[in-house]
Amino acid sequence: LWNQCLNIIKNDITEQSFATWFAPIVPLKFQNNTLTIQVPSQFFYEWLEEKHVSDLRKAIDLTIGRQGMLEYSIVIDKGDRKNPPITFNLPPTKQGQNSTDKGSNFPNPAKSPFELKNLDSLELDSYLIPKYTFDKFIEGDCNRLGRAAGMAVANKPGLTAFNPLMIYGGVGLGKTHLIQAIGNQIKDSFPDKFVLYVSTEKFTNQFVNAIRNNSIEAFTNFYLQVDVLIIDDVQFLSGKEKTQETFFNIFNHLHQSGKQIILSSDRAPRDLAGMEDRLLSRFKWGLTADLQQPDFETRIAIIQKKLQEDGIQIDFDVLEYLAHSIQTNVRELEGVIISLMAQASLTRKEIDLELAKSTLKSIVNEQEKELSVESILDVVTNHFDVDLETLRGKCRKKENVFPRQIAMYMLKELTNLPLKSIGYHFGGRDHSTVIHAVQAVSEAMEIDQNVEKTIRNLFTRFNLKGVQS
Ligand code: ADP
Ligand code: MG
Repeated sequence: LWNQCLNIIKNDITEQSFATWFAPIVPLKFQNNTLTIQVPSQFFYEWLEEKHVSDLRKAIDLTIGRQGMLEYSIVIDKGDRKNPPITFNLPPTKQGQNSTDKGSNFPNPAKSPFELKNLDSLELDSYLIPKYTFDKFIEGDCNRLGRAAGMAVANKPGLTAFNPLMIYGGVGLGKTHLIQAIGNQIKDSFPDKFVLYVSTEKFTNQFVNAIRNNSIEAFTNFYLQVDVLIIDDVQFLSGKEKTQETFFNIFNHLHQSGKQIILSSDRAPRDLAGMEDRLLSRFKWGLTADLQQPDFETRIAIIQKKLQEDGIQIDFDVLEYLAHSIQTNVRELEGVIISLMAQASLTRKEIDLELAKSTLKSIVNEQEKELSVESILDVVTNHFDVDLETLRGKCRKKENVFPRQIAMYMLKELTNLPLKSIGYHFGGRDHSTVIHAVQAVSEAMEIDQNVEKTIRNLFTRFNLKGVQS
C-alpha cells in the first residue's frame, strides 16, 4: 500500500524532494483505514506537514479512499524525555480543498466542534497542538510575566485573579504557543475539564454560519459548556459588532461560573480600536501581560532548544551568528533554522558558519527584492506622522530631520541602493548627507535605548529586517 502511495507521490514532486523526504519513511501498519508511517524526526514530520501534506492526502485518497487517515510515528532519540511517539491524524479532505490552515504546520481538523457535540461517545476536541508546551517555551525577560501568569492559571484554572488572562504582543513572539501551552497543561492536570482553543477567525466564522443556519442557540450553548476557553487573536473581533455581542455574553456567562478565559491579541487592550467599551473593560478585568522581542541570550536558548529537539549540534559561533543576525521575532528565527536544516539535509553538509551565512543571505535577498523604497518611507512617515513631502524635503526642523535620517538609515540597511540613489530620494541630496544621517542614527541608537527600540520596531515591519548580513 505504501509503495502505491509512493508511486503516486513520485509523479508529483521532484526527484530530489522525493529522495530526501519520502525515501526514508518506513511504513508501520495499516489498520482501520489508518496508515501509520514512521519518520526519522520531529523536524522531518513538520516538514512533511508543511510542504507535502497535499501530496500525502492525494496518495491516501487514491489508495485507501476519502476515509483514509494517516498517522505519523516519530523516532525519538534515546535518552530523550518521555514523549510517546507523536501520532497525528491527517483528516479527510474537504470537498474542493485539501490545503492546510495557513500559518500552522498542522492540518486544520476538518470537523467542527458542532459536529462533535452530538456525538457523545466522542471526546470533545480541544484543538490543542501537543508540541506547544511550557517545556518548550523558553523563558526570558521578554515573556517572564506572561509565562508565570500562564503557569499560575494552568495550575488553578478559574481560581486565580488572572481571569481573563490576556496575552498580547507582536507577530511571532509566542502568543499562540503560550496560550496553547496553558491549555495543554490544564488538560494534563485536569483531564475532566473541557478546554477549547479557538482562533477569533474561526469563532467568527462559526457565528456567521450559525446565523445562516438559524442555530445561534446551539452555537452559544456549545461555548457555555467550555471550562477553559482560549481565544486567539481577539483583535480580529474589531468592527464585528454582532460577533462581539455574542462573545460578550459567552464571556460573562463563563466568567460568572468561574470558568477560565484566556485571550491573545496583537496589541494592548487600550490600543484595540473598533471594540465595544464594555468588552474592552472585560479584557482588563484580570491580568494583561505582554510578550516582547527576545533578547540575545533568549534567542540563543531558543535556537539551541529547537536544534536539540532535532538532535542537531552546531558550534557556538554559528549559534551566536544566528542570534545576532535575526532579531525580529521567534517565528523568523525558526524559519531560518528550518531553512538551514533543510539546506544541510539536502546538500548533506554540516551546519557551519558558511552555510548559515549563505542561507541567511539568500533569505534576505529574497525579501529585499520585494522591499520597495515606498514601503520603507511609508513606515517611517506613518510612525512619525510626517507627510512624505516633508520627509523628502528641505525643512531643517528637528522633528523632521530625525525621521528623515532614520528613513535614510533604513534605506541603507534594507536595500542594496547606492548612497547616491538614496540621496536622490530626498530631494537630490548627495551621498555625504546620507553617510552623515546613517552615522547620526547609529550614534543615537547607541546612546538612547528608546531610539534603538523605535528603530528595531520599525525594522520588524519588514519581516526579517532585523537581519544584518
Ligand atoms: P504569535 O502567536 O505571537 O504570532 P507563535 O506563538 O505562533 O507567535 O510563535 C511563533 C513561533 O515561535 C512558534 O513556533 C513558537 O513555538 C515559537 N516561539 C515563540 N516564543 C517562543 C519561546 N519563548 N520559546 C520557544 N519557542 C517560541
Ligand atoms: Mg498566533
